[in-house]
Amino acid sequence: MTGKNILVINGGSSSLKFALINDQESAPRISGLAERLGSLEAQLGWKDAAGKHSKSIAKAGHREALNELLPLVQAAAVEGLHGVGHRVVHGGEAFTGSCLIDSSVIDAIRDTIPLAPLHNPANLMGIEAALAVFPDLPQVAVFDTAFHQSLPDYAYRYAIPAALYEQHAVRRYGFHGTSHRFVSAEAAKQCQLDYHSSAWLTAHLGNGCSTCAIVDGQSRDTSMGLTPLEGVVMGTRSGDVDPNLHAHLANVMGWSLTEVTRVLNNESGLKGLSGLSNDMRTLEEAAGNDHAGAQLAIEVFCYRLAKSLASMACALPKLDGLIFTGGIGENSPLIRDKTVQHLRLLGLQLDEANNLRCLRGVAGEIQAAGSPRVLVVPTNEELQIALDTLSLIAPEGAAHA
Ligand code: AMP
Repeated sequence: MTGKNILVINGGSSSLKFALINDQESAPRISGLAERLGSLEAQLGWKDAAGKHSKSIAKAGHREALNELLPLVQAAAVEGLHGVGHRVVHGGEAFTGSCLIDSSVIDAIRDTIPLAPLHNPANLMGIEAALAVFPDLPQVAVFDTAFHQSLPDYAYRYAIPAALYEQHAVRRYGFHGTSHRFVSAEAAKQCQLDYHSSAWLTAHLGNGCSTCAIVDGQSRDTSMGLTPLEGVVMGTRSGDVDPNLHAHLANVMGWSLTEVTRVLNNESGLKGLSGLSNDMRTLEEAAGNDHAGAQLAIEVFCYRLAKSLASMACALPKLDGLIFTGGIGENSPLIRDKTVQHLRLLGLQLDEANNLRCLRGVAGEIQAAGSPRVLVVPTNEELQIALDTLSLIAPEGAAHA
């Protein structure tokens, strides 16, 4: 075995997702999740070449969970461990790309907490635990927002008083940047186009969903905004609503700001519309059995998604292809078909057989003859984080075990 090994960490407030990525291999050597950290029920689950495993790590916090992981990672990283890459949700305007972590980077991530009060403190817990457990390894922060720092001001500014931007950083940031960047670069490679003179529309459709316009390898517009609530319909998030909705619900329902925010983030989207589930598989099955809520949720999802993609097209000088990715984008011919049917004006049309063929990791082009390309490209955010980490580590950097 050769290549370099990077431990990729995605820290949550009571969880820590991890994957050991070797840059020469497509699948992680070991991956898993430590969850319910800090409680008696804390649990470590992982998957490696030998199968699935789990063990109780009662009361373990982030640092103890990483200590539990250490021997497993060392056993899988036979060439040594070369670095640690951290997913960080919000980099604000401070980060336009991935960077090596030092105390000033930690301070800047901390300064961005007001923009991501749930995510950034959790990401910092993962970083601080990893610095304690792997003090000799270079560590890199990869931000969900950084790819979108190339948006022009007319795409990222809200039409609200300028002081709210100048003094409080209220603007559109966008998220899922690591995924949009990975799949667009991958599509250019597959189509043998120069990424730096190509133009793409991307639809990342997982439990969270967003669209992006990418020109010459740079994000030019994206559907998420100040927070990941803006944009298209998602599993439990509403996406765009009338900005007066908060006030309206406070007036007619007597709801607090916290309650409105909870409903829009956790009870809306596919789940709210269908009254059934946030899971697209469940909805497709129910729609097939005439469940009216599931049918409506699917129709709204696809129409709003197509509208978002059409608006993203304003940022493109040409269209080299529309890319579907994420759990829904990679696996649902129905959603791809219904969405593309709303995009006839862009000349887009699918080939039915090729659309049906692209499932469960099968990638490919699915457009009909004469249509601009439509591609299914499985995303791999962990691999992108590992590649970013490697590119920031000195090539001669020695491995640590
Ligand atoms: P992700 O967050 O990328 O893991 O995506 C989760 C979403 O992908 C959920 O809504 C799943 O229902 C959806 N998904 C996964 N497999 C399928 C499938 N075969 N058909 C439709 N949706 C799927």
